[in-house]
Amino acid sequence: MRIILLGPPGAGKGTQAKLVSEKYSIPHISTGDIFRKNISEKTPLGVKAKGYIDKGLLVPDELTIDIVKDRLAKDDCISGFLLDGFPRTVKQAEALEDFLRNDNQTVDTALLIDVPSEFILERMTGRRVCPSCGASYHMKFNPPKIEGKCDDCGNDVIQRKDDTEETVKDRIDVYEKQTQPLADYYKAKDQLFVVDGTQSIGDVFKTISEHIGSRK
Ligand code: ADP
Ligand code: ADP
Ligand code: ZN
Repeated sequence: MRIILLGPPGAGKGTQAKLVSEKYSIPHISTGDIFRKNISEKTPLGVKAKGYIDKGLLVPDELTIDIVKDRLAKDDCISGFLLDGFPRTVKQAEALEDFLRNDNQTVDTALLIDVPSEFILERMTGRRVCPSCGASYHMKFNPPKIEGKCDDCGNDVIQRKDDTEETVKDRIDVYEKQTQPLADYYKAKDQLFVVDGTQSIGDVFKTISEHIGSRK
C-alpha cells in the first residue's frame, strides 16, 4: 500500500501513521521528523530548514521534494510506504506522482484526517513528542504511561518549539492556503478518503483500518 496522510497540524497524522505503519509493516516517512533530525544534527539541510520551521512556514518545495525522492528510493519502500506530512503543496503532489509513475506506481489512497480549526490549538499546545523515536503524546488526551517518559523508548518527552500558540496560528493559515487544495487534487483522482479526526484515537484508527482493508 502507498498511503499519504493529509490534515491540518494537530489532526493526528503522526499518531495514526505510527499505528498504520506497525499494522501493515510499511515504513512511516515523516518529512517533519526528517527535518527535525537534520536540525538536531546541524546538517546543511537542517540549517536551511530551521528558519522556515521555527516561523511555521513551509520549507521550500525544491529541498523537500529531493529528500522524499531519496527516501522513497530505498529498498524498504518497494512494497509500500506511508507518507506523513508530504505532500503539502500541489507542486509536491505532482512531483510525487511523476516519481511514482516512473515505476508504474500510484498513490493507493490519500487519507485526510479532518479536524476543525477550533480543536487544533488545544491539541498542539498539549502535544509532547519523543525526540528520539518521534512518538506523539498529549498531556490530556494521550499521556505517556509514566509521566514525561516515552512509552516506547523511555526518553524524556519534550514540547516542540513550533507548538506555541503564535506559531500554530501561522501554521493553520499556511495549511489553509497551501495544503488544503490537495483535498480537491486527490478527490479529482478518486483517491481521497476523509476520516472524522474528532473521534478518539482508537476510533480514527478503526475507520482508517477498515478503509485500507477494503482497498487491499
Ligand atoms: P505537524 O505534524 O504539526 O503538521 P510536521 O512535523 O509534519 O508538523 O512538520 C513540521 C514543520 O516541518 C512544518 O511546519 C514545515 O515547516 C516543515 N515541513 C514538514 N513537511 C513539509 C513539507 N512536505 N513541505 C514543506 N515543509 C514541511
Ligand atoms: P499531526 O501529526 O497531524 O500534527 P499528532 O499525531 O502529533 O498530529 O497529534 C497532535 C496532538 O493531538 C498530539 O498531542 C496527539 O497526542 C493528540 N491527538 C492525536 N489524535 C487525537 C485524537 N483523535 N483525539 C485527541 N487527541 C489526539
Ligand atoms: Zn520514544
